[in-house]
Amino acid sequence: MQLIIAFDGGPVEYARDGAHRKVARPEECAICGKSGGMRPHGYYPRWVTVPGPIMRLLIQIRRFLCCLCRRTTSMLPEVYG
Ligand SMILES: [Zn+2]
Repeated sequence: MQLIIAFDGGPVEYARDGAHRKVARPEECAICGKSGGMRPHGYYPRWVTVPGPIMRLLIQIRRFLCCLCRRTTSMLPEVYG
């Protein structure tokens, strides 16, 4: 499951500010709907396209695991305004 989360900035700000470390843990699992089971489950890298000479940037995506249904949820930042 992928959830889009609000982010006040673009991919460059997201990477520079280490925003992946500040992503809030969801109260409820978006898959099974139960609350209290979400645990941090690391990060994974994802390329995003950015305007300008850099072209591509690697950002870290926060992931949580639901201990109740054993499924993971990724928190994709909305970094394109
Ligand atoms: Zn669940």
